[in-house]
Amino acid sequence: MSTLNRRHLLKLAGAAAALAAVPRVLNAAVAPRVVVVGAGFGGATVAKYLRMWGGNIDVTLVDANATHAACILSNLVVTGALPLSSITLGFDKLAANHGVTLLQGRAEAIDPPGNTLTVNTASGRKVLPYDHLVLSPGIDFSPAPGIWDPLRTPHAWQAGAQTTLLKNQLAAMRSYDTFVMTVPKAPYRCPPGPYERACVVADYLKRKGRTGAKVVVLDANAGITAEPEAFGRAFKVTHASVIQYYPNATVVSVDSTTRSINTSVKSIRNAKVLNYIPNQRAGKIAQQLALDTAGFVPVDPLSYGVAAHPNVHVIGDSCSVPSSFGKAVPKSGHMANSEAKVCADAIIRSFSGYGPDEDIATSSACFSPITSKSASWLSANFIYGDVYAADGSVKGKGMHRVDLGEAPPDRVNGDSYEDMFQWAESLFVDSYA
Ligand SMILES: Cc1cc2nc3c(=O)[nH]c(=O)nc-3n(C[C@H](O)[C@H](O)[C@H](O)COP(=O)(O)OP(=O)(O)OC[C@H]3O[C@@H](n4cnc5c(N)ncnc54)[C@H](O)[C@@H]3O)c2cc1C
Repeated sequence: MSTLNRRHLLKLAGAAAALAAVPRVLNAAVAPRVVVVGAGFGGATVAKYLRMWGGNIDVTLVDANATHAACILSNLVVTGALPLSSITLGFDKLAANHGVTLLQGRAEAIDPPGNTLTVNTASGRKVLPYDHLVLSPGIDFSPAPGIWDPLRTPHAWQAGAQTTLLKNQLAAMRSYDTFVMTVPKAPYRCPPGPYERACVVADYLKRKGRTGAKVVVLDANAGITAEPEAFGRAFKVTHASVIQYYPNATVVSVDSTTRSINTSVKSIRNAKVLNYIPNQRAGKIAQQLALDTAGFVPVDPLSYGVAAHPNVHVIGDSCSVPSSFGKAVPKSGHMANSEAKVCADAIIRSFSGYGPDEDIATSSACFSPITSKSASWLSANFIYGDVYAADGSVKGKGMHRVDLGEAPPDRVNGDSYEDMFQWAESLFVDSYA
């Protein structure tokens, strides 16, 4: 196992160890009830750790689907390097190993004063009472300008059928065809993810001998938002013959019927593939709570509770965590897993009459394949404390980034590519088994 991989595994293990010594729920006559919405990385982890650390807690995990298709590694499903089954995660071990109650259905309405959640299931509507509610519903897409049909021009930013659709469209590309993709305006799910996709698609086209085929990247941001060195090099050197990169490309209109897109800097008509990844906001059910101007739910980073209803918590991609200027908490599966543990700990403490722990840290890691044999990586660690405004003044409390690690050019290599699978496996197991 390489040094890097050991470090990531230790980070995961460390997060668990730091929070494991919480007070347990002692002999409550009636087990307190926690309902969790969303069995992605945030929801699965919080359900597991509430049971593992809290003992006598009645935890119900609600998801619209019977399994979760992880976005992590999904770009490798797009290129055919992995089957979809390798990123499809079941919930059975959460029930068997930890006693989580599973409910398949779509959460439709929160009633915070009444402490109930309404879920639409195959056997009708169910009203679930809760003492605490945790929402981890991932992302929703902001309305697209124009005529956007994701069945013709897929986003593949929620994995599953969309991933397969994009994979099939890529496989149908021939020489001189164009693959056009957008990078949404930050904040969005997985900052390096779109650049990673551009790289693996370019690599695929080269390996398949698609002469003259292009990948056009239309980035709504002023520049590459994550790992600028690694991706800058990948765009300008490794995949220079294929990738054309345009920053400041605000999408003006999309037309899925002709696979055409107009942006403020570049317009393309009749692309062979249009991978439109829209701007993002909190998952739909979380939009019933107060949102910030970017469309996410502001939370207290000690408990992930929302100000108006402290027993309603939002974790993962849907939440907005106060942080220092220019050091935003990334929306990643690793971070969702980390936030879930802090949230579980705070809920268990509240059942025991304690306030949340202030000595907390969260972390994130993303591995990005650059070719079919090499990968880059990015990690970031945050601690609770003062957070700073652009002028350096303290603007309040939140999660302050204390460490940012990026793969140096000589580590964008095969070792990192292999570390990627071990890291993903450890995250999958920590969240779902
Ligand atoms: C291409 C790509 C690559 C990525 N690579 C990495 C990486 O290397 N590392 C990393 O850490 N992260 C990565 N990510 C990001 C990661 O996938 C997300 O940040 C993570 O999934 C967020 O977890 P979550 O729990 O907030 O949401 P999700 O994992 O999206 O889970 C949300 C769940 O909620 C369910 N749901 C939503 N609404 C309802 C409702 N109303 N009722 C019932 N169920 C509902 C959904 O069915 C879903 O199962 C990547 C993302 C992409 C797109």
